[in-house]
Amino acid sequence: MAPGISRLPGKRRPQSGDLSMIDPFGREITYLRVSVTDRCDFRCFYCMTEEMTFLPRKDVLSLEELDRVISAFIGLGVRKVRLTGGEPLVRKNILSLVRGLRRHKEAGLLDELTLTTNASQLDKHAAGLAAAGMERVNVSLDSLNSETFKSITRGGRLAQVMDGLQAAKAAGLKVKINVVALRDINEGEFEALTRWCGDQGFDLTFIETMPLGDIGQKRTEHYLPLTQVREKLERAFTLTDIEDSTGGPSRYVRVAETGRRIGFITPLTNNFCAACNRMRLTCTGALFMCLGHDDQADLRTPLRAGEGDEALIRAIINAVSRKPKAHDFVIEPGATNGVFQRYMNVTGG
Ligand code: SAM
Repeated sequence: MAPGISRLPGKRRPQSGDLSMIDPFGREITYLRVSVTDRCDFRCFYCMTEEMTFLPRKDVLSLEELDRVISAFIGLGVRKVRLTGGEPLVRKNILSLVRGLRRHKEAGLLDELTLTTNASQLDKHAAGLAAAGMERVNVSLDSLNSETFKSITRGGRLAQVMDGLQAAKAAGLKVKINVVALRDINEGEFEALTRWCGDQGFDLTFIETMPLGDIGQKRTEHYLPLTQVREKLERAFTLTDIEDSTGGPSRYVRVAETGRRIGFITPLTNNFCAACNRMRLTCTGALFMCLGHDDQADLRTPLRAGEGDEALIRAIINAVSRKPKAHDFVIEPGATNGVFQRYMNVTGG
């Protein structure tokens, strides 16, 4: 382990002269999102093309390598880890990674290990995730209409997702539903989704489409600013702004009629970078300091170079020092498609 790196329990604040996880703009990196696979059983049209070429397996980090690199981040001060993908639950033996990482929670080094999933495999895995110490999951669900759902996901079965959600509830997992707001596709469903989440005891977050990857059709067609989503909801519900307790990019309201929270993630209409505390690791070990920039740090080479973590830790610290001030997303006619060549399933949502 490199000098200055300790794995002391409790919140670790880098000291001056220490290896710092504080970026040049004073933001402390405490949140890591890890894409454990680029593979997915759905083909959501805004996320990927229908015929995706997936990565060769040799390029993908093994579960042991993922554990090692995630553990290095935790040793440096990351307090929250989210597994994502692709679809994290299609990665073989993913539960063993979750079980292994639990040791950091037990040691007081990690506040939360969680997961973003499409829930297609959640009926199989919910109990195992809960038994491995996971407390909450985010589930992406853009429609409650099985035909619309099938069309957005290009073949996904809503009933399977609903089974997954019931299994999550039965296992005691808290659930937050993520909905990408899509003009002319699910914009008539926001009220129904809000009521349904209220009935189910789920929180809800709306997300604007982000210009990631060439999806072969104009994103502007279906881009819907969340200001319009909020206006629609305000016609049906009483919304009260509440403090953002997560430090994340969501702005939250409380819905008086359901008692539940709604979050709005607005990368395009409301730049949320000032409080950004996160970095994203792909399943090939590329570290993105910002979802909306192409700069990346290769962590696979130092990871595979040997058993010691010194080079890996140096690469992470160097990456933190390159974190940009803000993302470069633009959604406007002619500027959306393929603004970033990588797809969301690679970087991890
Ligand atoms: N398969 C998992 C799931 O469905 O949640 C995890 C990966 S998925 C890439 C994570 C999230 O990213 C999903 O909520 C998805 O809707 C969202 N997403 C994918 N592409 C997006 C884009 N271009 N803009 C905004 N959100 C996107």
